[in-house]
Amino acid sequence: MGDANWADIVGQSQLTDNLKNALKHKKVSHAYLIQGERLSGKKMTAGIFARALQCEADDDRPCNRCRSCRQALNGNHPDIAYITHEKANTISVDNIRQQINGDIAIKPYSGPYKIYIMDEAEKMNVQAQNALLKTLEEPPAYAVILLLATRAEAMLPTILSRCVLLNMKTVPEDVIKRYLMEKVQVPDYRAGICASFARGNVGRAAALAGNETFDHMKSAVLDMMKSVAGMEINQVAAEVKRITEEKFDTNDYLDLCFTWFRDVLLYKACRDKRHMIFKEEAAEISRAAQRYSYEGIERIIRSVERARSRLEANVNFDLTMELMFLEMKA
Ligand SMILES: [Zn+2]
Repeated sequence: MGDANWADIVGQSQLTDNLKNALKHKKVSHAYLIQGERLSGKKMTAGIFARALQCEADDDRPCNRCRSCRQALNGNHPDIAYITHEKANTISVDNIRQQINGDIAIKPYSGPYKIYIMDEAEKMNVQAQNALLKTLEEPPAYAVILLLATRAEAMLPTILSRCVLLNMKTVPEDVIKRYLMEKVQVPDYRAGICASFARGNVGRAAALAGNETFDHMKSAVLDMMKSVAGMEINQVAAEVKRITEEKFDTNDYLDLCFTWFRDVLLYKACRDKRHMIFKEEAAEISRAAQRYSYEGIERIIRSVERARSRLEANVNFDLTMELMFLEMKA
């Protein structure tokens, strides 16, 4: 999505309105902190805002066509800098001094602004944050610093107090589904599953839609859900082993189990497959709805949640998963 524009930032109107108003009324702050989880669209948003600030068009910025926009899209705009760091987990004081503090006094080369974009800003250590603070206290009029972070609380309060804080919100499932179908051309059934597993994160939904590992895991979970009731203990143990061997994402795996039984419960209650996530499995789900009692299904759903909290608490993986599957057998 190189030439993305405001309309591509799905379900974040509060954030985009804020930035568009700043553009329109020329009331741009010197520092912004965009907070949101991985894949939630922080980088895309920062890129669009940076292009809009530098764009040569009179309105509807970014135009994504003018010289400035094209330079930005090609990653060689002289007045848009992406902060880099050589150590994977730290942005050091030297990174800040060399790339921001030592550079910011030089006037913009061609655009009206000089923009610095720092992804994973929470990786700045305390010295780096203090160095950045010096610049934030007295920035040149043309400077705009965009900090992107998954956790704003990792930042010094003195930094936060000088930034406009913008949060990427959780996007409703139906909005994500529509986006996948209309913009990414994902078919209905698949879009529904990916939207439901994205936990409000559009980028994650799009990644799932194009992810063969997720598909592979989904089939594995569905096979397991269909056969677990008749399995021997050693077969259950073999499945647990497979989850480890194939390096399935455990949270996603549990989500898929949870969704299966939620479908079973819904079908048992209203005999209607319209609300099912796994519509293609309607026949198996209706069979399961006959096999399990309400009580049993509720107990299983609780056992999936229990497995999740046990794993978060680092309880033994094999044991936790086996106990959950045994609950499904009972
Ligand atoms: Zn432009």
